[in-house]
Amino acid sequence: MPSTRVPSAPSSSSPVLVLATLNPHKGRELLALLGAVPFQIKLLSEFPGARLPDETGQTYAENALVKARTAFSLTAALALGDDSGLEVDALGGAPGLHTARFGGPALSDRERWDLLLERLRDVPPARRTARFRCVIALAGPARGEQVVEGVVEGLIAEAPRGSGGFGYDPVFFYPPLGRTFGEISDEEKRRVSHRGKALDAARRLLSE
Ligand code: IMP
Repeated sequence: MPSTRVPSAPSSSSPVLVLATLNPHKGRELLALLGAVPFQIKLLSEFPGARLPDETGQTYAENALVKARTAFSLTAALALGDDSGLEVDALGGAPGLHTARFGGPALSDRERWDLLLERLRDVPPARRTARFRCVIALAGPARGEQVVEGVVEGLIAEAPRGSGGFGYDPVFFYPPLGRTFGEISDEEKRRVSHRGKALDAARRLLSE
């Protein structure tokens, strides 16, 4: 899990912010990364009839907005949706929007990054540049729709290192820290990651 920061407890009269995810791991991560905001935060799964459409948008922003709009229409509360992916320059920006399903729906995280390393087997270190991108969308009654983004630049390692994090973390090498995301602490990842940066920007909007 990310961050060790504990959000402050807002009063029950604070407006509600719904996290538009049905994935409990993602919900806890968003909650921890969001930190203190002047809202009572709820998960979409707490509402009757909770559902989200498939991610069929052509951009991260479309996918994040569809999640936020759906949660807003189901709950009438301000909603936060997200989408993220890994863009590898030597693969023309793939897997990008398809990162979660790279190689097919049945693969484990490990099988996915193994496949990525295989596809990059002959690519030299200097050409292994890549980035994680995260887009957060807000949709709500008073503020309409707002979209923010966070990006972190790195390199795809030649072999996995570290067992922390999730997804492609063991093969995402972050030069400023000289380690992969699988080797850094949750707090370090919160400070430098695409999701941490996007949620910092979202927190600023929510605090306005
Ligand atoms: P989504 O944002 O839920 O659509 O997922 C995008 C996919 O990108 C995830 O399933 C992960 O495989 C990958 N991904 C996104 N963020 C990270 C990260 O911080 N570390 C490792 N993999 C990530």
